[in-house]
Amino acid sequence: MISRRVSALESYKTETSSARVKLSSNELSIELPQWFQRRIAEEVSKIPFNRYPDPESKLLKEAIAKRFGLKEENLLLGNGSDELIYYLSIAVEEFNRGVLYPVPTFSMYGISAQILGRDRVEVKLKEDFDIDLEECLRLVEEKKPALAYFAYPNNPTGNCFNEESIKAVRDRGVFTVIDEAYFQYSGKSWVEEALSRRDTVVLRTLSKIGMAGLRVGFMVAEEGIVKELNKMRLPFNITYPSQVIARLMLTEFYEFVEQAVKTTIQERDRLYKELSSMEGIRVYPSEANFILFKSSLMPADILHKRLLEKGVLIRNFSYMIPDCLRVSVGLNWENDALLEALQAVLKEA
Ligand code: PMP
Repeated sequence: MISRRVSALESYKTETSSARVKLSSNELSIELPQWFQRRIAEEVSKIPFNRYPDPESKLLKEAIAKRFGLKEENLLLGNGSDELIYYLSIAVEEFNRGVLYPVPTFSMYGISAQILGRDRVEVKLKEDFDIDLEECLRLVEEKKPALAYFAYPNNPTGNCFNEESIKAVRDRGVFTVIDEAYFQYSGKSWVEEALSRRDTVVLRTLSKIGMAGLRVGFMVAEEGIVKELNKMRLPFNITYPSQVIARLMLTEFYEFVEQAVKTTIQERDRLYKELSSMEGIRVYPSEANFILFKSSLMPADILHKRLLEKGVLIRNFSYMIPDCLRVSVGLNWENDALLEALQAVLKEA
């Protein structure tokens, strides 16, 4: 009844335990002031919930275009960028051609390929977490993948890959998706390339800038590609409340978002320094809103559990990278709580 493609899947892994300090999903720690909560309530109360939302999310698209200096015809909105990853994996070439991505990386690239029965062409990252270009090109030659995903910066490693390596893969005829989910924390973008080429698209999301609960992501691409993918989009993929609230955030609240992003970058650099000075911890540099670190004094599983007992939830990545855990950068007090708990746990080791 259920296909082997689907029954062989493992469900998406995420941390769901509740904790006093939640630093596990790379959300932005931001507290909405009461005046803005009231504005949201006011606008949401006007929604005719018996009606379908605008299938084209026109007003939200307008707000996204204006906010990020883009044109509406270059945008396709998704229920999170996750949905757009599905669309791209379905739309690019035929399913008998594979999907290439470096590992470790964001799991949805592999999951979407697997569901469709597409060959997963995984290329292990080098020790420094950059792309192994030689191996990539060898696999491009051998397996002829049609599509490649590069998270930029990469999740969970936090680095931006060498640009030339990405271009070398793309220039061998591989349709290339640059996933800029963490763009606001790196400041590095491929949007110009995406707008001028038919073999490169960029994914962005509002999830990492304070709106994860709304599920809004978008693709930036050349107009013709947007038109094609729009044909397969589920008709009402952005809910009415999401269209209304995301637009409000982008138009009336965005300076607060920008401030929170700025503070998060400062906190990331502080957290990096503090973690680097801890015995038993090796920290990897990050251009995102999270930091990956390796634990040498204590197995990652135990460290993760002990931190949770102290009320701090981070993400255990040891199933992907031995001994590694990833912590999202939070507010100043949240990061202090993590550092304090970590120090206490390591002392016990
Ligand atoms: N891409 C990357 C690299 C991510 O890390 C994530 C979220 N963890 C996503 C995409 C998915 O984002 P969204 O919430 O927009 O679906």
